[in-house]
Amino acid sequence: MKTIAAAALICLIIALALPLVLAPSGGGEAAPAATEPPAADAATEFTVLTDGEVRTVTMADWLPGVVAGEMPALFEPEALMAQAIAARSFILSRMRTINASHPEADVCDDPNCCKAHSDEAELRESWGDDYDEYWARMLSAVRDTDGQYLEYGGEPILAAFHSSSAGMTEDSGEVWNSLPYLVSVTSPETAGDVPDYVTTVTYGPAEFESLLRAAYPYISLGSDPALWVEDTELDGSGRVASMRIGGQDIPGTELRTIFSLRSTAFELEYTGGAFTFTVTGYGHGVGMSQYGANVMAELGSSCAEILAHYYPGTELVG
Ligand SMILES: [Zn+2]
Repeated sequence: MKTIAAAALICLIIALALPLVLAPSGGGEAAPAATEPPAADAATEFTVLTDGEVRTVTMADWLPGVVAGEMPALFEPEALMAQAIAARSFILSRMRTINASHPEADVCDDPNCCKAHSDEAELRESWGDDYDEYWARMLSAVRDTDGQYLEYGGEPILAAFHSSSAGMTEDSGEVWNSLPYLVSVTSPETAGDVPDYVTTVTYGPAEFESLLRAAYPYISLGSDPALWVEDTELDGSGRVASMRIGGQDIPGTELRTIFSLRSTAFELEYTGGAFTFTVTGYGHGVGMSQYGANVMAELGSSCAEILAHYYPGTELVG
């Protein structure tokens, strides 16, 4: 009797304990082990020009450092995931073409050419004691989107992005070539969301003229600076398409470079004997706005919804 009772008790204990052993963590859905490598990204190899050398890397190795180099670490997880997918799409797109700036490598780490990338030493310096926590956020953004990218017409897209926009993103045709998925869309960020959202840059007439003349030596400016700017033409996103200054039509993108402005979303006034540019947002304005993506994520949008908004007509695959 004793043996039977003991056996029954053991069976009961096992029966009670079994669900605890078999139940997956996370209340019903099996979470992937934290150490599991991103399989698709680990199998994707490309070449990178960095510090004057061409290196072969995998997407799993390289992409976390791109997300870290391009987006603040404390952005919402869905915004970081959107950034990982956008950067992965961009790299996959570059892998299919020869880049005239560096034909020997698929991508480089120059943010003005391809995408920024931060290595461990740089991140340890800028993140300090937060390194482990922030790096884990980058790894999660990449691992949780393993292999996912955006395509248009069956090809990975050139997923351009920028820091912040002034209400609307820019149409790619205003900056480079027109692409059907890089068109002007609304963007929700405001001065409350973005540090230095509105900036001003002031030049006296002499400096204004000398900067202008370095690019346009034959520009004809009269004696009254108040009359130098004759006309301003805005594009569909509200940015400066061109300004007529001293009889010359100068594209907004060139004015941005000449006068070191953070974007082409600016107003120019001549008051108090000086030219003042009031500039909103930061970057070329094309594709995903990073601050806009973060606001969308704060309001509950998923990374797929963020990407569908900023890259209309594209498909998320992988
Ligand atoms: Zn490059």
